[in-house]
Amino acid sequence: VVKSEGKNGYRFYQPQLGEDIKKRISSENALTEALEKKQFILFYQPQVNTATRELCGMEALVRWQHPDKGLIPPSEFIPLAEATGRIVALGTQVIEQACEQLALWRKQGIRLVPISVNVSAQQFNQNVVVHTIAACLERYDVAPELLEIEITESSMLAKHAEIESQLAELRKMRVKLAIDDFGTGYSSLSQLLRLQMDVLKIDQSFIAQLGNGSPGLVFVKSIISLAHSLNMTVIAEGVENDEQLRLLQDLSCDQIQGYLISRPVPAQEITAMLQKH
Ligand code: C2E
Ligand code: MG
Ligand code: MG
Ligand code: MG
Repeated sequence: VVKSEGKNGYRFYQPQLGEDIKKRISSENALTEALEKKQFILFYQPQVNTATRELCGMEALVRWQHPDKGLIPPSEFIPLAEATGRIVALGTQVIEQACEQLALWRKQGIRLVPISVNVSAQQFNQNVVVHTIAACLERYDVAPELLEIEITESSMLAKHAEIESQLAELRKMRVKLAIDDFGTGYSSLSQLLRLQMDVLKIDQSFIAQLGNGSPGLVFVKSIISLAHSLNMTVIAEGVENDEQLRLLQDLSCDQIQGYLISRPVPAQEITAMLQKH
């Protein structure tokens, strides 16, 4: 009976859930294989001084260099990596590649600026991120000040006790700490005070709303003055046009990052920028 119904008959006996699970297992296997084959590569997006446009640092943003599908953006694999725990192994590869790149630039005698890497809350399980960073800094002989980690405001709020003690360890190692996507997670002033982060990155949704008379302007203005009173460097994310740049200059925002300056680019393009200076 099953045979006579062909493919559709087979589907009839397997609930839709079964198909979803099969798809998920195959994507999970693909992710595992990609990690083994080192198919993840880093692009870098410049962060520049708002007033002088001098290159001050860059954010490492991971891409999956898929053999058939080409470059796959993080939005298409980070959620699954988070859901399956693969984000921990992926995060380790990201930290390693960033340190390797810094060591390469140093060997080439190029002026070094810090690289910031995005870190998931799961990388704080069993102190993984602290161990990984310590090992990579040593292996590649990289100064800790050249590595910065970005952790989103919302993930920090979720598991704060565990994360905070490790952030303190990283701070002791002189690794730089940045709070990412700020403004989307509702942290309290007391949390901000306690965390002692070096850098605050204003989420791009607030920058997109910047414009004369918009409530976004008041919000960004108060974040910047709050961050400055806590001695943090402020970076505006997602700066796309000159009007936003001008407003951010008026508000004394320290650095900007966004398509107006550059999209995330392969390492060689950063090499060229660093050599110009
Ligand atoms: P994020 O850390 O907030 O990174 C900024 C995102 O905004 C990047 O997207 C960047 O390409 C994009 N962006 C930069 N400038 C502009 C702009 O002017 N306009 C607009 N519309 N977008 C801009 P991307 O590379 O697709 O990464 C998306 C997110 O994926 C990141 O957000 C981060 O949360 C996550 N991600 C990327 N790499 C890693 C990683 O190595 N580990 C982890 N855990 N997450 C990562
Ligand atoms: Mg980030
Ligand atoms: Mg961000
Ligand atoms: Mg983000």
